[in-house]
Amino acid sequence: MIRKKVIAGNWKMNKTAGDGAILARDIVAEIGRVTSVDIVLCPPFTALESVGRVLEGQAIKLGAQNMHPEKNGAFTGEISAEMLRTLYATHVILGHSERRTYCGETDAFINRKVLAALANQLKPIVCVGETLAERETGSTLAVVQRHVEGALAGVTKQQITTVIIAYEPVWAIGTGRVATTAQAQEVHAFIRDLLTKLYGAPLAQKVRILYGGSMKPGNASELLAEKDIDGGLIGGASLEARSFIDLVKAADAAN
Ligand code: PEP
Repeated sequence: MIRKKVIAGNWKMNKTAGDGAILARDIVAEIGRVTSVDIVLCPPFTALESVGRVLEGQAIKLGAQNMHPEKNGAFTGEISAEMLRTLYATHVILGHSERRTYCGETDAFINRKVLAALANQLKPIVCVGETLAERETGSTLAVVQRHVEGALAGVTKQQITTVIIAYEPVWAIGTGRVATTAQAQEVHAFIRDLLTKLYGAPLAQKVRILYGGSMKPGNASELLAEKDIDGGLIGGASLEARSFIDLVKAADAAN
C-alpha cells in the first residue's frame, strides 16, 4: 500500500450543531479509532465545534467545506483558515462544484484558498471535474487539467503531498448516476500523469486522488479497487452513520 485510502464526508448544508454531534458520535462508536483509513468529517461551519468535541482523542479528522483566502477583514459571512484551525480543523474542501456553480468561484480564487490553507497547515481537498455538457463535447480532460493546474499554481514540491484531489464529475454528484470504474480510472490516471509532469513521479505517486459522485457502499469496492482511486469524497451517503461506516470498511478492505 503506497497511499493510505481517505474517506471524507461532505455534509453540505445539513445537520445542526446538535444533530451533527449525534451523527459523529454514532460514527465514532464504531470506527473512531480506525487508523488504516484516513477518515474526515466535514460538517457545516456551525457544527464544527460540536463535532470537533466528539472527535477529541479519536483518529477521525475534522474538515470544513470552504474558507476565505484572506487572513481577516471586511469579508462579511466568510471564515478564515485561522478560524478553522482554532476549532481544530485539519482539512478543508476547496473548489467544490456547487461553489463553482452557485458562488461563481474561479480557478484563480480557488488557488488563493489552496495557498492560504497550506500556509496555515490545513490540508486542502481540492475538487475538480467536468459538467455533463463538457463530457459530451469531449472536453473532460481539458477541463480537469485546467482545474488541477489552476488550483495548484504556486504549490511547492514540499507542499504537494499534503494536498488531496477529489475528482467529482458534476453529473454524478447527488444524482445517483455514478461514473463507471473505467471512466473514473481514466481521469484519475490522467490527473496522476499531470502531477508527474508538475512534481515528478515519486511525489505524484504519494498524492491521494479521491472519487466523488454518488459513491455508496454498493458501488464503492469496485471503484476503490482501481489503481489510482485512493478513496472517496462522500455527500449523500455520509449523512447516515451506517452507510458512511460501510464506506470506510470498503476502503479498508481495498487498502
Ligand atoms: C459531493 O458533493 O462531494 C458528493 C460527492 O455528493 P454525492 O456523494 O451526494 O454525490
